[in-house]
Amino acid sequence: MAVSKTDFINYSRCPRYIVLDKIKKDKLDADIDISEYKNIEKESLIEELLGSMYDYEDDNEVDLIDVPNRQLEAMMDYYKQVETEAGRLTEKYFGGKTTYSKDTYNQECLDFNRNGIKYLCYVDVYNENSDGVNIIEVKATTTNQYKKLGFKNKDKEFISIFEKNGPFYRLKDEVCNLNELYDFDIDKYQNQVNKLFDRWGIGKYIYDLSIQRFILEGEYKASNNMEALKNIHYYLAVLNADYVFDGTYKDGKPLYNPDDNDNEIINFFDFTNITKLMQPVIENDASKIERVLFNPIDQECDLGKWCGFKKPGGCKYFNQICGSKIPHKNSSLNYISNGQGFMTPNGRIKGLDLINQGYLGMLDVPVEWITRKTHMIQRECLEFNKVYINKEKLKKGLEQIEYPIYHLDFETFPCPVPRFKGEWPYIQSPFEFSLHIEKEPGVCDKIKDNYVFLAKTHEDEREELVKMLIKYIDGSKGTLFAQNVPFEKGRIKELSNIFPQYKDRLMAIYDRGFDLLWLVNTNSKMYEDLGYDEEEAKVFNYYNKDLSGSFSIKKTLPVFSDLSYSDMTVKNGTEAIVEYANYPLMSKEEYNIKYQALIDYCQQDTWAMVVILDELRKLVK
Ligand code: SF4
Repeated sequence: MAVSKTDFINYSRCPRYIVLDKIKKDKLDADIDISEYKNIEKESLIEELLGSMYDYEDDNEVDLIDVPNRQLEAMMDYYKQVETEAGRLTEKYFGGKTTYSKDTYNQECLDFNRNGIKYLCYVDVYNENSDGVNIIEVKATTTNQYKKLGFKNKDKEFISIFEKNGPFYRLKDEVCNLNELYDFDIDKYQNQVNKLFDRWGIGKYIYDLSIQRFILEGEYKASNNMEALKNIHYYLAVLNADYVFDGTYKDGKPLYNPDDNDNEIINFFDFTNITKLMQPVIENDASKIERVLFNPIDQECDLGKWCGFKKPGGCKYFNQICGSKIPHKNSSLNYISNGQGFMTPNGRIKGLDLINQGYLGMLDVPVEWITRKTHMIQRECLEFNKVYINKEKLKKGLEQIEYPIYHLDFETFPCPVPRFKGEWPYIQSPFEFSLHIEKEPGVCDKIKDNYVFLAKTHEDEREELVKMLIKYIDGSKGTLFAQNVPFEKGRIKELSNIFPQYKDRLMAIYDRGFDLLWLVNTNSKMYEDLGYDEEEAKVFNYYNKDLSGSFSIKKTLPVFSDLSYSDMTVKNGTEAIVEYANYPLMSKEEYNIKYQALIDYCQQDTWAMVVILDELRKLVK
């Protein structure tokens, strides 16, 4: 039996994952006898589980578990580019001999046998130099997630737990004597370092690297090569969030030279000591995996952080199987801003523990637990089918809007590697906008008052986009209006820095931002400034049970109109990214269809705001 690193990561989530995976794999490989599951007494149970894993459309079997991630597929070349850059910079900074490849099967493979199981993994970048071996795991995340680990000293200065030297980050205690540092709180430091061991949080990739260490050490120990173990170092290579691309290309491809501040595009975190300390955890998880692999018993496991609910890379069995009992609408998880959960006579209960303990629906939560006004309103709207409106407050909010209103929405391409001059990893690079101009209340035509810019190619068309934006938006009057306006403002500010020649015009627009969410939901600061007390300012202005705890435009639109995205070719932002990413793969005919679909989608987003705003005005008349 073989367990790859990816299997290890998933199998160690919970015992049930292994059993579900074996059932699914058995279906794919009919040669394996289903009786292997001697502990699963009823085949009907397997049938039931398989029924949740597959669906049938026109006699075709549809896999509901291993669903292709279209955004990931569309971005794959860019992710591979991250590995290539990490390999290139390993050669530059480590010297010696480096093995890396865009093709996994050409990478260095490690394996060893333990208790009848072959553990194996591929190493993204394998380097051997005069100091020993360097195992480098490449992740298309950025330095930001590690750089934020730190604490404030007495002077309120932020102290990072890492020391940076060139493209290398090392923990402070590995490069200096902490006792000799001025005003250094070792307890606070250790608290932050401990976070690196949280495999369900910031330690996710360190856990991954620790599995590689487990396999490599197993391989070396099996061949009695103990001496060599002393000289192996373990690194994570991630994108440098501070790197700014200077716009140099060779043969049409970006050349990622060091930037003006001498930043490299990739930085290396030395986690040699941390992965050593992680080994008992990995050993323990391996033993648990082995026990279940040889004795699979299907029994429900509690849901928890191991499920990765709503997170990228979450457990693939959540939606169809383990979490399928959670109601799609108005579940106990849909109480707004309820990260702290509820205080009960037996202590606090929050998140998926509500589901584990049988509180599935919003109304299953005992009313005596509800202490917040917003939660009580949500509950009453659901229980008594009521609509909540604070008309006076909403009216005051509407009065703050200056005309004309510029309803704006950007579509952006969050590329792991920067593509154009002035960009950095994962910048939200705009490739499209839709603008509806509402000259006076309710005076806006869906077609005539709409302006759409959409990049025709993957070339740098940002300046054209900026020119069109400032041509149609007069920054000296009116309101820049968006759902989640900080996003639109953020893009405008970035563009103003990349194109300083348009800075004044762009920043004039930036300063006029107003959010649709401040009307439907609220904006405490704005309403307090308008004279409302803190409590009333905090409560949303409108609620209807169909919102199910969310004010996203996909939720508010059906409440206020009969507009829908369901019959559109491009239905959401992710699909927009995919279609734009796939431009080079399209035939002329497909390109024309998808180009128009992208226009229609973005136009619908801003038209939706016009329609919702109109309905809100009617509500307070
Ligand atoms: S969804 Fe959660 S409980 Fe179910 S198999 Fe996955 S990790 Fe385990």
